[in-house]
Amino acid sequence: MEIFFSDIPEEGLALSGKLAPDFFNLTGDDSIKIAGDVEYDLTLYSFDEVVVFSGHVAAPVELQCVTCLDFFPYLADFPSWQSEYDIEEKEVKFDPRESLRDEILLSLPPNPHCDEMLDDRVCPKAELFSEFEHDEDAEEIEAPPEGDDVWGALDQLGNKQ
Ligand SMILES: [Zn+2]
Repeated sequence: MEIFFSDIPEEGLALSGKLAPDFFNLTGDDSIKIAGDVEYDLTLYSFDEVVVFSGHVAAPVELQCVTCLDFFPYLADFPSWQSEYDIEEKEVKFDPRESLRDEILLSLPPNPHCDEMLDDRVCPKAELFSEFEHDEDAEEIEAPPEGDDVWGALDQLGNKQ
């Protein structure tokens, strides 16, 4: 699927659908598995140098616990999804699904612990590692950065009307 930037109207372009697990090109060696279709319901806004994605993304995945190495199911739900695509010089079109795919993979928790993310889970290897917990702070899962630029861009859109 390719979209010309010039075809994205000022009021935004609605884009919804599903990305099949195969589309993510992950192998069995990756620490992430896509467990089902990733659903997206987005509006795209085009500006001079960037396309902003705004909406909802829900990705059923399996993540690998960094402690016990078990895979566990997790729904990566982003009710207020925001991402951006930087338009290269002289670029006239792009595949929004490829951009979305890459941003979703970047947005998943980087160092998941199964017992922190599942309510009733006791990590089978947690005790073995508990004596090393002094640098626990460094491993805390950070929320995806809020893009100030996104809101600035949306404000600009509002001002134009
Ligand atoms: Zn674990």
